[in-house]
Amino acid sequence: MSQDQDNFRDSIGTIKEDGKRAWVFPKKPSGKLYEYRKYVSYVLLAFLILSPFIKINGNQFLMFNVLERRFNIFGFPFYPQDFHLFVISMIIGVVFIALFTVAFGRIFCGWMCPQTIFMEMVFRRIEFWIDGDRGAQIRLDRQEWSAEKIRKRTLKWFIFFIISFIIANVFLAYLIGSDRLIQYITDGPTQHVSTMVSLLIFTAVFYFVFAWFREQVCIIACPYGRMQGVLLDNKSIVVAYDHKRGEAENGRKKWRKNENREELGHGDCIDCFQCVNVCPTGIDIRNGTQLECVNCTACIDECDTIMEKVNLPKGLIRYASEDEITKKEKFKFTPRLKGYTAVLIILTGVLVGMMFLRNDLEANILRLPGQLYEHKEGNIISNVFTYKLLNKTTKAVEDVHFELISPKGEIKLVRNDNFDVQPEALAEGTLFIEINAAALSGDKNNLKIGVYSKDKLIETTTARFLAPRSYK
Ligand code: SF4
Ligand code: SF4
Repeated sequence: MSQDQDNFRDSIGTIKEDGKRAWVFPKKPSGKLYEYRKYVSYVLLAFLILSPFIKINGNQFLMFNVLERRFNIFGFPFYPQDFHLFVISMIIGVVFIALFTVAFGRIFCGWMCPQTIFMEMVFRRIEFWIDGDRGAQIRLDRQEWSAEKIRKRTLKWFIFFIISFIIANVFLAYLIGSDRLIQYITDGPTQHVSTMVSLLIFTAVFYFVFAWFREQVCIIACPYGRMQGVLLDNKSIVVAYDHKRGEAENGRKKWRKNENREELGHGDCIDCFQCVNVCPTGIDIRNGTQLECVNCTACIDECDTIMEKVNLPKGLIRYASEDEITKKEKFKFTPRLKGYTAVLIILTGVLVGMMFLRNDLEANILRLPGQLYEHKEGNIISNVFTYKLLNKTTKAVEDVHFELISPKGEIKLVRNDNFDVQPEALAEGTLFIEINAAALSGDKNNLKIGVYSKDKLIETTTARFLAPRSYK
């Protein structure tokens, strides 16, 4: 491609030369892939909206309570103590997305990203319903304010606000938990003014994103879109224009009836611009893969409809890799893909193993800072410790007590010897450990302590016990 042909990459399609926003009025998509995307979006929208309200073993299915540092993923509660599991899950997510992107480009953006789903399958469809298709939208935008324009704009903005408010509520259910959200709603907004203010701020952000910012999220704000340059290669399958077929020897040419395009050397692209008109990010896919393309497949459907009308084979724009178009090479499992897959399998194995080893009750016993040891009657050495027991389940752990597994000794709690740890709560206190000096092997001794619930060992932990050097 010559430098002149390539200069579309120097600017963003949605910004005019004077720096102002070029508003995109995409044509209403239709076709087989659009229908499939609709079904996928219904499932994902239901998942997104219902997830904070579904409970598994009393745990919210998905929750990201950043303020209290409590996270539930698929019904598994994670606490700050499980941070290592959270980090591994995040790394797996990143490797999975990288692997998927190397193989299938931005398929996630087009089919699964919440931004695309809400924008194209909710807000845009409401816009088509109220304002009409591309032509009607452009006319309405250009026309002076009239009764019709005021009615349409007011209705559209009001519905957009209501949907943004609903999304903000769902978002809050992810953040603070659905039980608390329902409680706040039942109590009324005047009882929780700060939450109501946060809710209105979230609503304003969603409204801004879906009513005005729109495709700019994908083009200039989303970091994932920016990563395409390093992740994609000639073997990645993306939404691509078959330039070999579309341009042939003499380039694209408008359709003329009874003309033998093959003999004249014209490509199959009839330069109808329908793929450009339907694009929600306002680009021309015939220029090649661009960072603005979210792989929404609207241009595939549109071009297929045109090809059908002019009796040419479908698939001029399709899911294909550059190598498939230029060298007719089919999809290959490249060494790069094999490498990502191996890393993914290893990390998933590590995570599954760690999940199985993870206890429902997390115990931490630490020596009280600044305290050494006490020499008591009968050659007994005593150390003082603090304990923290975190119950990660939604059921109380009853009748909890500690026993010294090794070496032999006695554990005395400052308060009750046996106690309950409430659901999703932290129990903390102070305890003394007393050991006969004869059982100690030096000034620093490793202890193994068992945590029991009703005589059943539920967790073991370790601690360091100090004694005088003379007992070495
Ligand atoms: S829709 Fe197909 S035929 Fe029409 S301009 Fe786009 S690529 Fe060419
Ligand atoms: S170029 Fe095609 S696939 Fe890419 S965003 Fe535009 S319409 Fe969607």
